Amino acid sequence: MSEVTRVVNSVFNSCSYVVGDDERSWLIDCGDVDSILPLIKGRLCGVLLTHAHFDHIYGLNQLLSIFPHARVYTNAAGREALLSDKLNFSRYYGDPFTLLYPENVDIVADGQMLPLYGDTTASAVETPGHSPSCVTWIIGESVFTGDSHIPGVKTVTNIPHSDKDLAHQSEARILQLAEHRLVYPGHAAPTEL
Ligand SMILES: [Zn+2]
Repeated sequence: MSEVTRVVNSVFNSCSYVVGDDERSWLIDCGDVDSILPLIKGRLCGVLLTHAHFDHIYGLNQLLSIFPHARVYTNAAGREALLSDKLNFSRYYGDPFTLLYPENVDIVADGQMLPLYGDTTASAVETPGHSPSCVTWIIGESVFTGDSHIPGVKTVTNIPHSDKDLAHQSEARILQLAEHRLVYPGHAAPTEL
């Protein structure tokens, strides 16, 4: 895969990542659009969401107003949270967010593969626990874990709709998948396990 470019966003230092080639770009999570825009080459095809907590999604309305054809990939719980400032927690942080473009959302299931660009595909791995909306994305030698696994940090499971046991199971699955791959977490720096 070509290189992965990271943006550290202003809200909670969440990370967004840009991957792609000269013609097609893809985003993993969407925070500060003004920082993301200069990194997009060619067409922005879509956004792969690691989960629908507000710090990972808050730029989506601005982004989709600029790229109305971009798709947003998440699971069924993620779609629900995109449409609810209660479920995505934004209402508790004084900046309520609900997605204005629900027709752009595509729901993915565990194991689903998406063609991204060239020979590169993304596989969706549902990793619930931190949130029911958690999806880990495998793209070539890279694993985008969101908040399901942040190396060196205990997975947060003391928030509404989280589940500690599921989080442990998901993390074990991620650690297997991450062997010989580079982990790009939802916060903090990329890490080789
Ligand atoms: Zn989160």
